[in-house]
Amino acid sequence: MWCGRAFGALVPATTDHLVPRTKGGPSWPENEVAACRRCNAERGHTSPADWADECARRGWPVDLELVRTALERLEEAVERRGGARRARPYLRGQLRRVR
Ligand SMILES: [Zn+2]
Repeated sequence: MWCGRAFGALVPATTDHLVPRTKGGPSWPENEVAACRRCNAERGHTSPADWADECARRGWPVDLELVRTALERLEEAVERRGGARRARPYLRGQLRRVR
């Protein structure tokens, strides 16, 4: 999702929460993206928009369109399923940033 490196034995894939759990991000598949262990660990609780900025600053080929699409998919899931109340304003703010 972030640095663009291909997954493999040396770059194992991990599950990264788009909206961090600490920000009310739900444990739904729509809130999960594939990230390398380094990005997952270094991102920590950093927001998707801030981490995308950091990736670009580091010269990594982060795909903002992919980030936006993932955020939109999660927003649709929140509307469809309900709940995730704390994640909603956070999600709206993130979408404003990447649109
Ligand atoms: Zn990475």
